[in-house]
Amino acid sequence: MNNPLSSLNIPLSKNYNKLTILDLIRFTPGGISRVEIARRMGLTRAAVTTIVNDLMETGVIREAESLSVRNGRPPVVLEINPALGYVIGIDFGATHIHLLLADLGARIHEEIESEFDIQLGPGAGLAEAERLVQHVLERSDHSINQVLAIGLGVPGPILTDAGTVIAPPIMPGWDGYPIRDTLENIWGLPVSLNNDAELGVLGEWAAGAGRGERNLAYIKVGTGIGAGLLLEGQIYRGVTGSAGEIGHLTIDENGPLCTCGNYGCLEAVAGGRAIAAQAQEAVRKKQRTQLTSILPVELITAKDVAAAARRGDLLSQQILSRAGTQIGIAIAGLVNLINPGLVIIGGGVAQTGDLLLEPMRQAVQRRSLPAATRVVRITTAMLGRRSSSIGAVTQALTIALNKVASRKEVRFPQLAHNPSLELQV
Ligand SMILES: [Zn+2]
Repeated sequence: MNNPLSSLNIPLSKNYNKLTILDLIRFTPGGISRVEIARRMGLTRAAVTTIVNDLMETGVIREAESLSVRNGRPPVVLEINPALGYVIGIDFGATHIHLLLADLGARIHEEIESEFDIQLGPGAGLAEAERLVQHVLERSDHSINQVLAIGLGVPGPILTDAGTVIAPPIMPGWDGYPIRDTLENIWGLPVSLNNDAELGVLGEWAAGAGRGERNLAYIKVGTGIGAGLLLEGQIYRGVTGSAGEIGHLTIDENGPLCTCGNYGCLEAVAGGRAIAAQAQEAVRKKQRTQLTSILPVELITAKDVAAAARRGDLLSQQILSRAGTQIGIAIAGLVNLINPGLVIIGGGVAQTGDLLLEPMRQAVQRRSLPAATRVVRITTAMLGRRSSSIGAVTQALTIALNKVASRKEVRFPQLAHNPSLELQV
């Protein structure tokens, strides 16, 4: 039940039990009682009571107000004390930055999205992230001193120990840049840097369509295409952090040039940029489509194609259907390889819905082995465009809770009471 992405070095001790209890409280839908914690961890009730009392005395957890129950006394369910402070989750896409401010109880208080071209490089990117953090804190009347940790996702392979990205195809200029250390210096806070698709699978596992799953793939279909893999309850990163780069599987060996330098990668034939390029090409060739109304042609985006397809534009539907089939072919390979129980499709382009999803499902059905297709469900992300930023919040919460759980005395920061969006992560 441990947070599958946490890579904190925690000694096997009382602290380990403490953090496991915090994870059970965070990730059990509907909450968990002391008795149930003892049962799940194989500990005595006395042992659990000692640790729970300790966490309650330092203000890390509290008893939740009991819900109505049919008969008898309801078991008291525990919850994280939201008043201990805040965390921030930031998701960098190829064309946007999405940011969430959440309290320690994982309730979202502020949300902001800003357009940003990641190709402008790390100087501009991190300055924009800093500006958004300032903006959100000012808007909600909070200060950086109330924030305990920040989680950050970027669309490239991560060197976790170094806190950098390594040779990221859609992030030229970011290779080897000390992203984590730069931000830790700016904010004076621990920052966790992760791949955006990894955070997507973490977010959906913690609060979305993947709750309770142990073998799960999250496919982020946006400008780029990437997969986050949860295998046997653990995030799988591979040796150098580049596992899950499904966007660079070769789909058509004679296909168009990809950002990675190869030809015919999935991303180059079915990613957001490829969808837009195919539509622009069709307009230039004077094919019949509603997209001719968008001028100049270079401005046509994947979003426009999706909107036209929904309005019944045949050419747009064909482009999306072909992209869906190609993504499905790659997913069929993944399904044959890892035999997941669930595949979640997220990212901006996936918001198109069934126009993309149906051909994808059919391709998976046709091309993966019956033993694997019989069990696998393919669904859209429950958290929509928020999967990765909620994953970033989840990761930041792990660091923040680790921090407050090792404190010896209570230190409540002064919280301004403001209405929250009350989205339980
Ligand atoms: Zn490629």
